[in-house]
Amino acid sequence: MTFQSEKWKKDFPILNQVVNDEPLVYLDNAATSQKPEVVLDALKTYYLTNNANVHRGVHTLAERATSQYENARETVRRFINARETAEVLFTRGTTTSLNWLAQSLEDTVIEPGDEIVISYMEHHSNIIPWQQLAKRKQAKLNYIELTEDGHLDMENARKQMTEKTKIVSLTHVSNVMGVVNPIRELADLAHSKNAVMVVDGAQAVPHMPVDVEALDADFYAFSGHKMLGPTGIGVLYGKRNWLERIEPIEFGGEMIDFVGLQDSTWKELPWKFEAGTPNISGAIGLAKAIDYLETIGMDAIMSHEQEVVKYLMPKLEKIEGLTIYGPKNLNDRTGVIAFNIEGIHPHDLATAMDMEGVAVRAGHHCTQPLMNYLSQPATARASFYLYNTFSDADKFVEALIATKEFFL
Ligand code: PLP
Repeated sequence: MTFQSEKWKKDFPILNQVVNDEPLVYLDNAATSQKPEVVLDALKTYYLTNNANVHRGVHTLAERATSQYENARETVRRFINARETAEVLFTRGTTTSLNWLAQSLEDTVIEPGDEIVISYMEHHSNIIPWQQLAKRKQAKLNYIELTEDGHLDMENARKQMTEKTKIVSLTHVSNVMGVVNPIRELADLAHSKNAVMVVDGAQAVPHMPVDVEALDADFYAFSGHKMLGPTGIGVLYGKRNWLERIEPIEFGGEMIDFVGLQDSTWKELPWKFEAGTPNISGAIGLAKAIDYLETIGMDAIMSHEQEVVKYLMPKLEKIEGLTIYGPKNLNDRTGVIAFNIEGIHPHDLATAMDMEGVAVRAGHHCTQPLMNYLSQPATARASFYLYNTFSDADKFVEALIATKEFFL
C-alpha cells in the first residue's frame, strides 16, 4: 500500500494554513515537528480531567496522573525496546540528557589524560557537554573524521578509539546531512576499548525504528518535540548497570528515599534521576505521539522519507549552482537535505522561500565544527517528515527555482 502522507497531513491542523498568501509547506522538521490533533487532545484531556502531581498524593487525580505518567514510560520503553522501565529517564530533551550524562559520568569514568571521542558531524549539544567535561578533568576530546560524502570515516574511528578512550558519543543521524551512522559497529568498537557508548538519537528516533538493545548503546538520548510530541520532554535511556553506577546531578523532591540532616539516600531507578515535579503532560503527550507513530509504522515512515528524497534529488541536481551535502547513496540517509546555491546566501534563500509559503532552515544548524569541515559558513536545509507529500516536494523545487531566478 502506498504511504498516505496526504491522509496523515489532515491530522495536523497547523499545516492547514496560508502563509504569505501561499499554502504552508513545512520543511523544518529537523528543528521541530508539528503535532497531530490526538497529541493536542491528550494534553487538553490531561489538564481538563486528571491534572495532579505524581508519586505523592493518594487521591484519585494523583493516582490517575501517576499511572498515566508511568504508562508513558512503558510506552517509551516498548518503542525503543529497552529491557525495563527503570532504564527510561524522562528529561527536558536531548540537550538535557547529554548534559546530565556528561556530568554524571565525570567522576565515574574520566581521569586526567583520558580521551573522549566524538565526530565532526555532531550537534553542539553533543560537543559542548563533553568539551566542558574534558576541560574540567584535563581529558582530551578527539574527533572522528568524515569521508568525502559525509559518512563517518570508519578507519579513522578505529584510530581515534584507543586504550585511553573512556567515552564515545556519536549521533545516530546527522541533523545536516541526514546520514545514518552504523551505531552497532561503532558500539562494538567502543566496547572493545572498554569505553561507554553514548548515542545522540535526536534525529533518528522520530524517523526510523530504533532498538537500543540491538544497537548495544549504553546510553541513548532523544527529544519529544522532534517526534510529534510536546516541547520540554525528552528521554535518556541507560543500561541498568550504568544507571546504577552513576550519580544524579539534580537533587530535591521526588528523587529521594530518606533525607537526614547531613546525608540522604536516593530512590531506586528510574526515579533517582528525576528530581522535582516532572513534565507530566509532556510525557503523556509523548506517549500519544508514539502511539500515533506506531499506527503508521517506523519502517514505513523511513521509507517514505527516502522515497521523497529519491524523487527530489534528480530535480535538484538539474538546478545549476546547487550543492547538496551528504551521502550520494540515498539509502544511507533520512529526509534531511542540506544545500547551497552558489551566489545566494542561505538566509536570503530561506527568506525568499518563506515568501512562497515554504519553511526551510538556514544557518549553521548548531554544527559549527561541521560547517568548518565543509568549508561553509552556513547552508539551507529542507527536512521532510511523514506528513510531507510529493506535492510538497514539487512546491519546494518550484520555490527554489523561483528564488534562484529572483536573485541571479
Ligand atoms: N542532537 C541533534 C542531532 C539535533 O538535531 C538536536 C536538535 O536539533 C539536538 C541534539 C538537540 O535537541 P534539543 O534541542 O531538543 O535538546
